[in-house]
Amino acid sequence: MSSTKETSIRISEIFGPTIQGEGLLIGVPTVFVRTGGCDYRCSWCDTLHAVDSQYRDDWKPMSVDAIWRDVTALSGGTPLTVSLSGGNPAIQPLGALIDRGHDAGYRFALETQGSIAKAWFADLDYLVLSPKPPSSGMQTDWQAFESCLAAARKGPQIALKVVIFDDADYAYAKDAATRFPDLPIYLQPGNHTPPPPDDDDAVVDIDGVMDRMLWLVDKVSSDRWFDVRVLPQLHVLLWGNKRGV
Ligand code: SF4
Repeated sequence: MSSTKETSIRISEIFGPTIQGEGLLIGVPTVFVRTGGCDYRCSWCDTLHAVDSQYRDDWKPMSVDAIWRDVTALSGGTPLTVSLSGGNPAIQPLGALIDRGHDAGYRFALETQGSIAKAWFADLDYLVLSPKPPSSGMQTDWQAFESCLAAARKGPQIALKVVIFDDADYAYAKDAATRFPDLPIYLQPGNHTPPPPDDDDAVVDIDGVMDRMLWLVDKVSSDRWFDVRVLPQLHVLLWGNKRGV
């Protein structure tokens, strides 16, 4: 069990309850704990307020106790699934927070691109590994990715999620599925319109997202790729790019 003493976690925002808008847990009620900082800079990142150092002043170091007070207040003390997100939450020391929540009956899901492995991945209930395709401008280090899987061992339920904008991204997703045939894979049409971080009225190109969704459904159907799941970002359809929902 990890110690909660002096653990400081860099937090961008804590919000909810809402629903998980994508992937393995789509539709599941959740509180989000979003950490600040990321080792990637994806061209289409939709959480720049938790990535770019120009927003660093908005991030605050919080103790496990302080984070847990916020989570329990937002959930009314009723255990639910806590979504650990970012930025890249794997940068932060989250083991003690997970222990704390498990003691109270909460479950923990973490999404990361799979670039940094932590031993506490094994304590998660769900791990979504979201390697970034060519359109992101990032290069996947598959060795680091496999280290994440090794760290998780047989602890959490694990799934892959890949954002798709074009044919090159689709080919990348097929390669990922071939590399890890035992893992379920979710494909998600990309959203081209990252919001200004302080814009509550952020507009999203819903038509563009739905066109890509239809294109993606056609692709997997004509390829007879039947052990895949294609999902839109439900929260984008409901709320656009608005933060904190
Ligand atoms: S890995 Fe995720 S949080 Fe980091 S830059 Fe890419 S999309 Fe943004």
